This record gives sequence, structure tokens and C-alpha cells, in this order.
Amino acid sequence: MKRAAIVGAGIGGLTSALLLNRQGWDVTVYERGTRVGGRIGYEQNGEYRIDQGPTIVLLPDMLHGILEEAGVDRSKVELLRCDPLYRVHYSSGRVMTKMTDRRQQAEEIERLFPGESRGFTKFMKDMDTLFPAGRSAFLERAFPRKRDFFTPSLLSLMGRLRAHKSVRKAVGDYFHHEELLDAYSLQSLYIGGSPFGTPGIYSLLPYAEHEYGIWMVKGGYAALPSILESELIARGGRVVLNTEVTGLRIQDGVCQGVETAAGAEEVNAVIYNGDFPHLKGLLGNMPEAAVKKKPYRPSSGCVLIYVGVDKTWEDAATHQFFLPPSLDASLREVFNQRRIPAKSSFYVFNPVAVDESAAPAGHSVLYFLIPVPDAEGVDWSTESDALADRVLEEAEQRGFPGLRAAIRWKKVRTPADAERDGLYGGGSFGIAPILFQSGVYRPQPKPFPAIRGLYAAGASVHPGGGVPIVMQSARMAVNLLMKEMGT
Ligand SMILES: Cc1cc2nc3c(=O)[nH]c(=O)nc-3n(C[C@H](O)[C@H](O)[C@H](O)COP(=O)(O)OP(=O)(O)OC[C@H]3O[C@@H](n4cnc5c(N)ncnc54)[C@H](O)[C@@H]3O)c2cc1C
Repeated sequence: MKRAAIVGAGIGGLTSALLLNRQGWDVTVYERGTRVGGRIGYEQNGEYRIDQGPTIVLLPDMLHGILEEAGVDRSKVELLRCDPLYRVHYSSGRVMTKMTDRRQQAEEIERLFPGESRGFTKFMKDMDTLFPAGRSAFLERAFPRKRDFFTPSLLSLMGRLRAHKSVRKAVGDYFHHEELLDAYSLQSLYIGGSPFGTPGIYSLLPYAEHEYGIWMVKGGYAALPSILESELIARGGRVVLNTEVTGLRIQDGVCQGVETAAGAEEVNAVIYNGDFPHLKGLLGNMPEAAVKKKPYRPSSGCVLIYVGVDKTWEDAATHQFFLPPSLDASLREVFNQRRIPAKSSFYVFNPVAVDESAAPAGHSVLYFLIPVPDAEGVDWSTESDALADRVLEEAEQRGFPGLRAAIRWKKVRTPADAERDGLYGGGSFGIAPILFQSGVYRPQPKPFPAIRGLYAAGASVHPGGGVPIVMQSARMAVNLLMKEMGT
């Protein structure tokens, strides 16, 4: 039986392990942390528990489909639909609700932004054709060679998806009001990119929200990794916690094993699931020339506030965005000036709105995510508490009356914590989704054509960040591995 080592038990590592196990490989996952899941985990304090990282499930069929391919029945991962999808609170006092139903959405847009609903209808209609094409071209295939990417048909599709413009400019072909531009471009923040610096291809995201919905994993996203770990172990795979892979054995262009403090293990193939720029540190004997010399640009970071409160808010949706007077100006401070903006935007996750069991009866757990620069250049130990206080005060005024007096537990995480956990540059979402780190320019699931037996899956690998998308990178890595190495 052929043997594989997976470096890291993030969603990319666990998905790779299950897919390979299904192909009859003997798989061991090495995880340096105390639990599986990486960015997907819980923050917990006594009776309060809430997701630490991902909360929004997009593309549910992609997630379930890959799990099924990996031999995990979809009934094991229950998804709860969020409809309304979310609310956007503008500083003007306007509140826009996003919904799945196109007609109702058009009415909502017309009510708030007279004359703009036609743009929405056209956006959805255009994307009805572009999304399936974009999905199969950019999310379901790797680009082992540059020439696989620069084909006339892909270049034409990129043109139609407005890759030459930013997302904000791309949606500007449909919407005019600043607030609508915000509502249809803020999705780039889900993957740590600015609406003005992320290519227009990513306008697939606001479409996907309406078309496929926004969901939540019952019990929280953090329930998912343990389900996958149990499945893998039940099927004979191994998960070795508290064990860092410190080096890879590469000889004569073949990756032959992994090194840990306990010694070396010989394998036929390795899938690397750490944050990709850190792979360089494991390639001691690899020719310098094959390693990228210019540093990658990390995605934006987050300051996260987790609270447990003895209060509920009847009218609060599961997902909500609170925008400052100018989202564009605020994000330019984050992405260009690389500082905490004077007026921040923030996202609030309120799981009890869709899953009563998320907190004890009469209580809520809330999570506030504030986009900030990556770890560099800000003294997080002094800046984060003041930022958290400002945001909680604003949340209280704009949507959660009585919030601060009801807080029983509070924890703040910063990009410095993310960097300590191994996220490149303290960015939350892998390397930034800018044009020259996307598609063919992003590290590929087979990152070094000259090295046989070494593959990569994860947020910094093509096709990019976000749970279902990372699962795609795992799928691509395993498909390439099977093609090259067989059973
Ligand atoms: C705050 C936040 C909010 C997010 N929100 C969403 C959301 O709403 N929806 C969504 O879809 N996505 C969201 N994401 C993104 C999503 O969480 C990530 O894209 C995804 O979880 C990344 O998975 P990964 O496979 O790259 O592994 P990671 O989660 O990065 O895990 C990698 C694992 O590898 C281990 N490791 C690394 N190096 C070694 C080594 N040398 N030896 C052993 N082990 C090693 C690490 O300890 C870690 O456990 C969010 C992320 C964050 C941080």
C-alpha cells in the first residue's frame, strides 16, 4: 500500500487525507497543534462557545460534493440556511437586507435605491452564464503550466469577468449608488482582499451568495474538522497531534519523506497544508532557483472580538455588516496606508438567530470581525483593546442595544495572534487575492513541477481562500497525485 504524509490538519489537509484514503492510500496527518482544524476551531469559555474563524458557508454544494467524493455522507454535516442572507447597515441609517429570492431583492434595492434594481437584475442575468464558466475555469482546475492559463478561451472569459478591473469597478458596470457598490464588492473582504485591489473575477462571490445562499454549519463551522478526523480514523487513517514536520526529504527530484522530532518517516508522497510561504522553510536541500524570491503579499488581518452575553436580540440576523461613512476610504487606510482606520467597518456573527442551541437559553454568543492590516507595522498589544472598545460601543448604538452591560465573557484576537499560530504575515486568509497572486500566479497544488511527490493544499494555494475553495485545492492536489503516482 502506498503511503502519504499530510503536513497540517487544516481543512485542506483533512480533505486531502480522506480523498487519498478513499483511493486506498495509507495516510498519516501530522499536526503541530493540539487539535485538528487550523483556522476552523472554537473559542470557548465555560458555557459560551463560538466559532473562532469561518462562519459563513458559501457554495454549500461544493462543500457537500467534495465531502461525498471523500466518502463523507452529506447527512453528517448539517447546514442551516440563513435567509435573509445578511443585513448591511449603512452609516446613513439605511439598512439593506440581502435575500435569496431575486424578485424580493430587486424590490428591496428599488425601495432603498430607486432606479437601481435593473442593474441588479442584469448583474444576476449576466452572472447566470459567467458563473458556471468561471467556476469550471478558475475553481475546478489547476494550472501546472503557464500556457494552460493563457489560452484564447480563458483570456476571453477573464475579459468578460472583468479581470482587468477591480471588483468595485466591475460591479460599477451595474450599480451606481456608493452604498450599492459597497454591498456588491465587500465580499472581497471574505478572502482578505480590498474591493479596489481584487480583480473583477471575484464578483462571482456576490452572485454566489444570492444564487446558492449563505448557510451555517449546525453547531458551528468548527464542528466540521472533528467530523472529518473521526471519519479518517474510523477508516484506518492516522492523525498525529502535537507533532511538527520540521523538514521534507527530497532526493533526486523526488519527495521521499517527512522529518519530525521523533525521526523521519518514509512515504511515497507528501501534501503540504501549512500556509504556503512557510513551505520554503522545509525545503532545506532544494535548489534555491526553484523557490520564489520576491515575498508574497499577505491578505488583510482581522481583529476579532468574541463575547458571551446574557441577552438576545429578537430582530438581529445571523450575519450583519456595519459600514462606516465611506467604506472605500476606510479600506484604503487598511490596505494602502496599512493602519487601523479612523472609522472601521465590522461584521457581526450572531449564531443564535438561526441555531438556538448556539448559546444557553436567553443568552447569545457574538463574534465581531474588524478588517485591519496584517501583523506588520501596528503594535497590536496597545491598539487592539481601544479598537475593540470603539466597535462594541458602535455595535451597541447601531444594532445591539444594551450590549456592553450584558457581556459576561470577552476575548480579543489580533493579527499578532494569527502570526503566532503560523498564518503568513498574520493575514487571516492566506496570501492576498491580488491579480498577481491569483489563478496561474498563485502557488499551484503541484507547486514545483520538478519535484515528484510533493503537493500543496490550503488557503494560499490556487484556487484560494475560503473553506469550500480550499477543499477544491485539496481535491486538485489529490487528483494530480493520483495521476502522477497511481494507486
Ligand atoms: C477570522 C477568519 C474568518 C474566516 N471566515 C471564513 C468564512 O466565513 N467562510 C469561509 O469559507 N472561510 C473563512 N475563513 C477562511 C478559512 O478559515 C480558511 O480559508 C481555511 O480554513 C484554511 O484552511 P487551510 O487548509 O489552509 O488550513 P489552516 O487552517 O491554515 O491549517 C493549517 C494547519 O497546518 C498546521 N501546520 C502548519 N505547518 C505545519 C507543520 N510544519 N507541521 C505540522 N503541522 C503544521 C497548522 O498548525 C494548522 O493546523 C476565515 C478565516 C479566518 C481566519
